[in-house]
Amino acid sequence: MTVQGRIALVTGGSRGIGRAIVESLARHGAKVAFVYNSNAEAATEVVTALAAEGHEAWAIQADVRSKPAADKVVADVIEKWGKIEILVNNAGIIRDGLLATMGAQQWQDVIDTNLTSVYNFCQAATRQMMSQRYGRIINMSSVAADVSNPGQANYAASKGGVEGFTRCVATELARRGVTANAVAPGFIETDMTVAVVNAAGDEIKKKIPVRRLGRPDDISNAVLFFAADESSYVTGQILKVDGGLTLGGL
Ligand code: NAP
Repeated sequence: MTVQGRIALVTGGSRGIGRAIVESLARHGAKVAFVYNSNAEAATEVVTALAAEGHEAWAIQADVRSKPAADKVVADVIEKWGKIEILVNNAGIIRDGLLATMGAQQWQDVIDTNLTSVYNFCQAATRQMMSQRYGRIINMSSVAADVSNPGQANYAASKGGVEGFTRCVATELARRGVTANAVAPGFIETDMTVAVVNAAGDEIKKKIPVRRLGRPDDISNAVLFFAADESSYVTGQILKVDGGLTLGGL
């Protein structure tokens, strides 16, 4: 998979799945800028660790919910490195709760972070991608877009939105050499899922046909395919990476 020399921007790249994506792209020869929100220490650690391996990464603090912030991040990367060729919209949060008690802020925080952010960064980056007639957009969805988890109405709505958005922009951008695809992870071991894993233990693994939780690298490997030169004929696709969790065979 070829990303050698490409310029990439990843949101939520300081921890978990996003960190694995940043590392994978950088180790395959891309220059990678990534956005974090609040944890500067984690972001610095990613940059330092990659620099020690001889790879270039750049951490940028920004809130992905803000359109002006997204515009500035994209402009800054283009000013520094001349272009953006790979955009990975990965930043996301959960704020679970049953509908009966779900407050408006709890709804809006999830929609803004997981869905509006995807609009913010795609809208900011695609004009330049179209004019250079090359781009790879990869949006992070979730199997929650398809399965009904009580307490995740906000999260499911945001990820369902990401999938519909991805298919639409794929059609709009195809003639300009820009692809747009999404990855829908199942149960991946990160800070986001640590509480559930601690509470449920091995019970979760019994529901997954491959009998293990996913690792961030399982997702970054799928992202690498969509980010690479070789995937130019694949667009508008949603790839589940879930160890068979949603096959319904158990
Ligand atoms: P995580 O470990 O909690 O990391 C979240 C990342 O997003 C962090 O880098 C965080 O930066 C950043 N972020 C959050 N809010 C932000 C904001 N407003 N502005 C900028 N950055 C922000 O999450 P993860 O488990 O790796 O999940 C990554 C993506 O995969 C999410 O879209 C999630 O919905 C999706 N996903 C995860 C799983 C799973 O099992 N883990 C399953 C399906 C889908 P700071 O630390 O600086 O705040």
